[in-house]
Amino acid sequence: MVDKVNKTDDQWKKELTPEEFEVTRKKGTERAFTGRYWNNHEKGYYKCVCCGNDLFTSDTKFESGTGWPSFWQPVSDANLQKQSDKTFGMDRDEVVCARCGAHLGHVFADGPKPTGLRYCINSASLKFEKK
Ligand SMILES: [Zn+2]
Repeated sequence: MVDKVNKTDDQWKKELTPEEFEVTRKKGTERAFTGRYWNNHEKGYYKCVCCGNDLFTSDTKFESGTGWPSFWQPVSDANLQKQSDKTFGMDRDEVVCARCGAHLGHVFADGPKPTGLRYCINSASLKFEKK
């Protein structure tokens, strides 16, 4: 299991950009097609921008057409947590970093094979490391 990371908003504010803070700590959403990774095709690893937890790899990234980085499988289910999100009158599954609680995005059941899942993730929640 991963060690938990607990920091106050003031600490996070010092380490993150205003947009990263708004998305990861306040459950914000970046505007579609504006993030740094939706159109990134390089091989590598996507880590949590807050704590460096391994979340996704380029091998499971796919073109969803949504304007957000989309993946059909995380590196490990243990690295993410799913929780019900009923805001905005919708019934969605929010995904957060299991280590620091950062809001990442949502997971939907309309993804490609083999999982059929679509992890729709904010670029602002991710830090890409080239392989
Ligand atoms: Zn994290």
